[in-house]
Amino acid sequence: MLAGSVLLLTISTATTAQADWISTLVRYERNLTAANTMAVGGAVSQDQSSRRGFDFSFLTRRVKGKKSLSRIREPLDENDLMFAEQHVGMNMSSELRAVERPAMLELRKYATIASGDNLVKILNKQGLARSDVNAINSAVNGVFDLTKLMPGWPMSFNLDASVEPGAPGRLISLHFEPSETITVSVERTTEGFAAHRDETVYIEELMVASGTIRDNFWKDASAMGLPGSIIANAIETHRCTTDFSKDIQIGDRFTVLFDARLTEEGKIVDSPKIHYVSVDTRGGKREVFRFEQKNSTGYFDRDAKQSCATSFSLMKAPLARPYRMSSPFNPRRKHPITGKVRPHRGVDYAAAKGTKIFAAGDGFVRAKRTHSGGYGKHVIVKHNGIYQTLYAHMSRFPKNLRVGSRVKKGQVIGYVGTTGSSTGNHLHYEIKKYGKQIDPVKSKLPRGQKLAGSARKSFLIVRDNTLNMMDDAKPVVAPKG
Ligand SMILES: [Zn+2]
Repeated sequence: MLAGSVLLLTISTATTAQADWISTLVRYERNLTAANTMAVGGAVSQDQSSRRGFDFSFLTRRVKGKKSLSRIREPLDENDLMFAEQHVGMNMSSELRAVERPAMLELRKYATIASGDNLVKILNKQGLARSDVNAINSAVNGVFDLTKLMPGWPMSFNLDASVEPGAPGRLISLHFEPSETITVSVERTTEGFAAHRDETVYIEELMVASGTIRDNFWKDASAMGLPGSIIANAIETHRCTTDFSKDIQIGDRFTVLFDARLTEEGKIVDSPKIHYVSVDTRGGKREVFRFEQKNSTGYFDRDAKQSCATSFSLMKAPLARPYRMSSPFNPRRKHPITGKVRPHRGVDYAAAKGTKIFAAGDGFVRAKRTHSGGYGKHVIVKHNGIYQTLYAHMSRFPKNLRVGSRVKKGQVIGYVGTTGSSTGNHLHYEIKKYGKQIDPVKSKLPRGQKLAGSARKSFLIVRDNTLNMMDDAKPVVAPKG
């Protein structure tokens, strides 16, 4: 019924216990069209003639590059071979006994290297023949220093599922990954065992991505070939000064200078270091330069002032533009008609309903409440042992904001409204220092560190070097097509 080049398995009888793992069999469909697929569900028999002279090297599924073991468990595609994955708690020999001619089947097993293990021990646990164990061990030793095996690493084995119960196991292949980039594998060949070491080689290169906003920063930078991790980190360096979703408009320019890790094919994988990010907007050019100090690394503007990303600071007006101050901080404010003292212990910023309200600094949501009078819908953020801020009269809260959740400076924590005792859309903003309200506008608030003295001098050298590096950097060019 099928040509000689076709491999056919027919499974016609199965025990209940088998049915489970047989269902995990995947047919090898080399030269088979979809129409020729066989039914699964019984004892295995096969077309002997087609088996003869068949190249079984495909039995081993080589995994190259960065794939992790968990990926190997993904369903095999149509070009893959049938194999059975051993079910936990099942005895492989007894399960396979009833299967007629399962020589085609591979049993995949996983082990985790334990403390005190060596490869011989691990292989012995798989029940392999002693001579094979020694041969595999020396093959691996040729490509990988076995003293470097680390506890916790997973190792996978493909075993010949056709061995008789009680007979030594027969390894078809094994593989493990000493690092994200290295894969070691062993395959049974006609001349014994062959070990391979596949290394994904990354190239490091100084690169500069610069472009014009056509859509938004994320999309445009992605289209150039920057991975999400770099884009996210670039945005982070500007977190307090620029809202990338709002402040940046079509036609604005951006530049990101970074150390790129690339695949051999030139695909940018990530960046261990972003040196510089600038956005050139109608509101002016905003730049940050990376500066490494003994105990911290941060981003600073041209004038050596640190961006908020790495130090605590508070905003005087924690809301999106446009807004205007409608009522200042005034602890002795008198009611215009009654003349009674009605202290105003915060600042009011009038803004349109729905205007974004930001956390004024890094901290935790201490309270999220709704008062029918007074503050209305309001949020309290505790920043540290000294500062706490309050945001009142909100129209609503963002969906995911919860009491206890960590917030970053600039993160949206609510929207302007006029809930509670309020006569119009505005944000009532209070800062408490050691439990007492202070004037958010006139008080000296914690600001990002500004470098001084020798630190400043070092920074200015780094800054100028960074600007010079721009000329040596390889431009990121958008992939064609
Ligand atoms: Zn107020």
